[in-house]
Amino acid sequence: MSSGHPPILPGWDHGPVSAAPVTTPGPSAAPTARSSGDGPLVGVLALQGDVREHARALEAVGARAVPVRRPSELRAVDALVLPGGESTTIDKLARRFELHDLLRERIADGMPAYGSCAGLIMLADRLVDAIPGQQTFGGLDVLVRRNAFGRQVESFEEDLDVDGVEGGPVRAAFIRAPWVEQVGDGVEVLARTRTAAAADRVVAVRSGNLLATSFHPEITGDHRVHALFVRMIDAAAQR
Ligand code: GLN
Repeated sequence: MSSGHPPILPGWDHGPVSAAPVTTPGPSAAPTARSSGDGPLVGVLALQGDVREHARALEAVGARAVPVRRPSELRAVDALVLPGGESTTIDKLARRFELHDLLRERIADGMPAYGSCAGLIMLADRLVDAIPGQQTFGGLDVLVRRNAFGRQVESFEEDLDVDGVEGGPVRAAFIRAPWVEQVGDGVEVLARTRTAAAADRVVAVRSGNLLATSFHPEITGDHRVHALFVRMIDAAAQR
């Protein structure tokens, strides 16, 4: 534990990792009945990618967010967010930091996990267009195509209806995003695209304690997907 943190999410981009929960509330589009400080301890895999934005979104919906870069930190959390970034890099770093096997184990043991974009790729059991030797943590019985939306629509935004998210469509940002090409038994499809160039693609799924989206809800200021994840964590803790 360290003390004397400045108020804005220290240690998320670089520097030593602190086990101290971050308590700064961020902006929230989804007020929660719970005050921050008594929510579940949610790690954000902090190897690469948009770690800080996920931490803010989690804090905004009442969770306590901590960066995870070491096995001891991974053992300590109730749940984990796998952020967007570059899945090939996250894969290599997870193996180098000795997180890969432990993360597979924790997912298999039922730890709730939410992956966005590259995080969806990392949770998939099967990939199309992976680089040679690329590995995932797995757990989600889906086939995911990397960089699926292709050149025309490499980055775009769309309003999506997401099952389990109340209060109207979610503004979803897609950045060189994957889509889910096949889902296994027990995987629930939560959202599909409507964009004419790539309509009806599966971009949000849930299976047991795992949640994954092709898009980045953490960068649009709408925290309802994170609120859904926190509800899943609470429900898992009560079982
Ligand atoms: N294309 C990236 C990958 O394969 C994912 C992009 C993202 O996370 N925004 O990892």
